[in-house]
Amino acid sequence: MKIIDLHTHCNSGSPLDVEPTPLHKRNFSFMMEEYKSAGISAGGFSYYSAVLHTDEIYEQNEKLAEQAKNDPRVYQWLVLDPRQERLFDQIQRRIGDEKVLGIKIHSVGHKYDICEYADKIFSFANELGCFVLMHPDKVPLMPKFADRYPNMNLIIAHIHSVDYAEAIRNAKHGNIYADTSGGDSRQNNVIEYTVERVGAEKVFFGTDTYAAGFQRGRIEYARLRDDEKEKILYGNAKMHFARQFESI
Ligand SMILES: [Zn+2]
Repeated sequence: MKIIDLHTHCNSGSPLDVEPTPLHKRNFSFMMEEYKSAGISAGGFSYYSAVLHTDEIYEQNEKLAEQAKNDPRVYQWLVLDPRQERLFDQIQRRIGDEKVLGIKIHSVGHKYDICEYADKIFSFANELGCFVLMHPDKVPLMPKFADRYPNMNLIIAHIHSVDYAEAIRNAKHGNIYADTSGGDSRQNNVIEYTVERVGAEKVFFGTDTYAAGFQRGRIEYARLRDDEKEKILYGNAKMHFARQFESI
């Protein structure tokens, strides 16, 4: 079975990288060893230095574009801080790139109020007709914003509460999704609850650099049907990002 990790990160060699520890590595070659051992074909990346800091986002987006161009396993989320106008220009220019999946936002890491900027970000994505991958922030309020922009699709990362299923159900255009990435999927009914409430077609697979075998196993051994597991691990990504994942 092929598997697509829609949400992950790595260090880029920037001074703003996240310090690795002996127990949680952060570099790209380690992530690729993880992919190999867990049988993951490709990943949607953004660099830590861009999602957790605001100083080098433009440069880090350019650097990752170069890496994506040269590595068949690497796909890109273009990081946006909505207070930096030049990032809108950059994304406009790059959104059609072969390996670009959409826009990544991290209001918590970048320290802004998502409610203040959601209209600005989502209206831009609506014009581009693209996906936005967001770090969770004020999840119950997201349908209110997503309802104004039917041409945009929003993935709220790290399913960890009942709020996700509610937000997905409340989106009147059906344009809210979630991903399984992160340590909180260890809760023993969190994935099953969400799939039962909204269907497997609303859920994407991700690792967020957590142990890839654990993340894959969480889906493989979930109390779900085989066709639901297949959609989460591969089918949904392949369908929504058909152009980008054509060769995967
Ligand atoms: Zn992340």
